[in-house]
Amino acid sequence: MNIIVTGGAGFLGSHICERLLTEGHDVVCMDNYLTGKDQNIKHLCPNPKFTAVKTDVSKHIEYEGDVDFILHFASPASPKDYLKYPIQTLKVGALGTHNTLGLAKAKNAGFLLASTSEVYGDPLVHPQPETYWGNVNPIGPRGVYDEAKRYAEAMTMAYHRAHNVDTRIVRIFNTYGPRMGVSDGRVVPAFLCQALRNKPLTVYGDGKQTRSFCYVSDLVDGIVRLMKSSEHEPVNIGNPREMTVLQFAQAIKKAVGADVPIIHEPLPIDDPKVRQPDITKARRILKWEPKVTLEEGLEKTIPYFKEVLACEC
Ligand code: UDP
Repeated sequence: MNIIVTGGAGFLGSHICERLLTEGHDVVCMDNYLTGKDQNIKHLCPNPKFTAVKTDVSKHIEYEGDVDFILHFASPASPKDYLKYPIQTLKVGALGTHNTLGLAKAKNAGFLLASTSEVYGDPLVHPQPETYWGNVNPIGPRGVYDEAKRYAEAMTMAYHRAHNVDTRIVRIFNTYGPRMGVSDGRVVPAFLCQALRNKPLTVYGDGKQTRSFCYVSDLVDGIVRLMKSSEHEPVNIGNPREMTVLQFAQAIKKAVGADVPIIHEPLPIDDPKVRQPDITKARRILKWEPKVTLEEGLEKTIPYFKEVLACEC
């Protein structure tokens, strides 16, 4: 297939491009490099089946060739990034989704939207099944991301219902692995870099809030299965092993072998108190579940962070 991946130079986008290339597809990566990085796709560039185009999908997209499938992954995705780029985040979720759906319609291509567990906001139902509508503060600082993705889901379903575009929606829960932005502020790079630099781990609030962490290869596998399925309604993909941020800090200390203290900093506004995917639907429809344990995933991730930190010195 000829496949376009928007946000292809980002953390998840670059792993998706890599996986699609190994399956023999022709892949076009579109990225404006607001948060994506050249470095993430450098190793793919020698492949004749890979093309990188610098473009902002929030503006009109021109593309001449045939397209069979579009995966729309472009967006700032860490709380630090979307707080820094609130307007761009809203635009890529709204205008970027509209433009990429328009391209899918014009090319008669399939379409997959990268949505997020943030559509559930600070959830009142736990764990979160796809049928839960969420508890989002539209005017809070995180609202720019949450509402952009909720709008993107609504637009995707509208193109499916009104224009019969062959769409998919994946709701991605916390994911980690090599090529995460080392300073994107998320808890995995933050704790790993702190531990590797022998600095205290900064736990926000009392650290009793929970998250569930999925290794990137598991996530990509789930997404590829969803692409190949005929499910049009949202599907959660994530690892259901839930832990508190404090427990996660301990796991990082152990994995890195760093005897560093934990310090507490203020909890960001609207930081969800709990998060755990209900993956019953993914298990049933996609025959998917995560395979990589947190311990194995961290073992695969730590060398990447060591290398990047070594280059910075
Ligand atoms: N967090 C933390 N210390 C940090 C960075 C994040 O305690 O240095 C917490 C954050 O408050 C949240 C959790 O870790 O409760 C996950 O944060 P992240 O930014 O990775 O993503 P989120 O799941 O909130 O989208």
